[in-house]
Amino acid sequence: MQWTVRLEARTSEGEVKTTELVTFNRPGVVSTLAEIGLMLAETKTLLAKLQASMLCGQVAAYAAHHRVCAACGVLQPLKDRRTRRLQTLFGTVEVEAPRFKLCRCRLTTPLAEATVSPVCALLTGRCTPELEQVQAELGARTSFRDGARILEALLPVSPANHESLRTPPGQSQSHLPQPHPASRPAAKLTVPSADG
Ligand SMILES: [Zn+2]
Repeated sequence: MQWTVRLEARTSEGEVKTTELVTFNRPGVVSTLAEIGLMLAETKTLLAKLQASMLCGQVAAYAAHHRVCAACGVLQPLKDRRTRRLQTLFGTVEVEAPRFKLCRCRLTTPLAEATVSPVCALLTGRCTPELEQVQAELGARTSFRDGARILEALLPVSPANHESLRTPPGQSQSHLPQPHPASRPAAKLTVPSADG
């Protein structure tokens, strides 16, 4: 047998876009109990695809909305296309983060040039607040390392890193002062050897 999961996204203007997320294949007639029903690995794949599709759609709509100059209503020119990675409970998602040239009507001098990146302004941290909160809550009950292992066993969660594991409950990482992106080290994708 074959099951296909399709996601139907409908914008506020009524535009509908259908995306095929995953297809699961199983023998037509099962022979053991273990072959019945949805498997953990399949749910991880499904959740990761669903997250990526929803998140990229929302971020693209946000960028398109903020490309329109708030003062005069014209479309601000595209400067370049960049990407940002966001860690979530349901995987790490790479999103488009286009930069736009600031509309001429908002420049103080005619020859000046400034750029705006709405997506970078929206993504104030490397993790979603929900991921930080769940990591902190689980970490408070066991250890931060075991909490990360439990999450990774059940969800397609982004791998834990030192910074998010060591953030005490109630103190969202995204509210702490952040170094400039260029000066940050690459994301640490391993579980720390010592508990937080
Ligand atoms: Zn303008």
